Amino acid sequence: MGSDIRLRFAPSPTGWLHVGNARTAIYNWLQAQREDGVLILRIEDTDRVRSRRDFEQAILEDLTWLGVHWQEGPDRGGSSGPYRQSEREKIYLEYAQRLLSTGKAYPCYCTDEDLAVRRAEARALRRPPRYDGRCRGLSAAQRRKLEAQGIRPSIRFRADEEVITVTDQIRGMVSFPSGFVGDFVIIRSDGLPTYNFAAVVDDALMGITDVIRGEDHLSNTPRQIMLYRAMGFPVPRFAHHALLLGPDGHRLSKRHGATAVRLYREEGFLPQTLFNYLALLGWAIEGGAEVMDPAELVRHFDIKKVRAGSAVFDMDKLLWLNSQHMHFLSPEELAHHMQPFLEKAGLDTGSVDVSYLTAMAGAIRDNIQTLSQAAVPSAIFLKTPDLDEEAIKVLTLPGAREVLQAFRQEAERLCASSRLDPAALISAAMSRTGLKGKQLFMPLRAALTGSIRGPELQAVLGLLTREEIIRRLERALASL
Ligand code: GLU
Repeated sequence: MGSDIRLRFAPSPTGWLHVGNARTAIYNWLQAQREDGVLILRIEDTDRVRSRRDFEQAILEDLTWLGVHWQEGPDRGGSSGPYRQSEREKIYLEYAQRLLSTGKAYPCYCTDEDLAVRRAEARALRRPPRYDGRCRGLSAAQRRKLEAQGIRPSIRFRADEEVITVTDQIRGMVSFPSGFVGDFVIIRSDGLPTYNFAAVVDDALMGITDVIRGEDHLSNTPRQIMLYRAMGFPVPRFAHHALLLGPDGHRLSKRHGATAVRLYREEGFLPQTLFNYLALLGWAIEGGAEVMDPAELVRHFDIKKVRAGSAVFDMDKLLWLNSQHMHFLSPEELAHHMQPFLEKAGLDTGSVDVSYLTAMAGAIRDNIQTLSQAAVPSAIFLKTPDLDEEAIKVLTLPGAREVLQAFRQEAERLCASSRLDPAALISAAMSRTGLKGKQLFMPLRAALTGSIRGPELQAVLGLLTREEIIRRLERALASL
């Protein structure tokens, strides 16, 4: 890695990777690639109750599946580890101690209950619910007395009254008025650091030069800037991107459908699709190209071009993009990606050879938008399909029986090999019946596939063996 640029993605392992967080990870990765910098993965697991190792593992897996790779992290080490906040508690206490000794922080003996009561009072008086500074000026004797009562203090940062201006790479200058921030807790009474404090200590010690994250953290940034300054650390560049919204304009949540990357993976979206889609949400490439691979995205990416306005997650667009990416795959690759989804749907892919699966993938690719959707059209080729209601209706129309008989007779007559030549079969049936178009093809499609929709009939005829075609025609005739 060539430059001094260092970025980080810092998920909290309290659930599966959310698509919104995946987008943050992708922006960080793109910027790191573009700047020839380093991407660090840091696990923010200070919330002991909600953090779980299996979630951490799942986040690492999902990032890897997406194609987001990091150079330093809990799984691969690095020069500024450890990379889990739960393993850095001593470091936070040490820096908090420094702030205490310089008077930039002080012990606070207010209990959660006291604070909740005072916040409610402030709200009732329409005053901002800031900390009222009660423990700011306690004397040493007063502190000793409170400690003698067994109260374990938290450590609070002394926030000066000053205007804080953030120069944001996406939003430009954002100013927070003096008094926006009251004295805030950096170490809780249980000895654990708060998010703002741990993030600043880590970003500083890990040499982070650029912080790219969601705008839900913008209001934390003035606190963080105060902490950087108080501890004498250089302040990184910030970029706060807008959050993802659902179609109703509210923040994307489970109510709108799947929000976990894992669920998109299970649904049969390709990783390159989700990467492409999330990367381009809220940012467009001049000239309007939409279907791109990560290398092209790196070439065009610039964090400054990301729009400040929110981005709406559009499922139809994602489906469209997935079908585009599936088209870029060779039939072999598509078959390879499809196979686990077919197996999961109960289809036996082990008894046919790879060339059959490949031809099948080629035949159905226009009928599917996700890999899991491959199960329905593939079933036509992997087992005898049941006749659905519409197919039965078509088969009972006048003339259908004659059409099926004509196809069966011609299939038997054209017995050059186990595969039939679809064009020869169709033209022979055409001359035998004097029919063409729908009247000819619909009964055949219904008999062979059990449905009136699906892959090209030519492809179906080309893939099924002659025996299988005859068997399915006879089955349909018998059902009439
Ligand atoms: N753990 C925080 C989150 O997941 C990270 C915020 C940050 O990037 O500073 O929202």
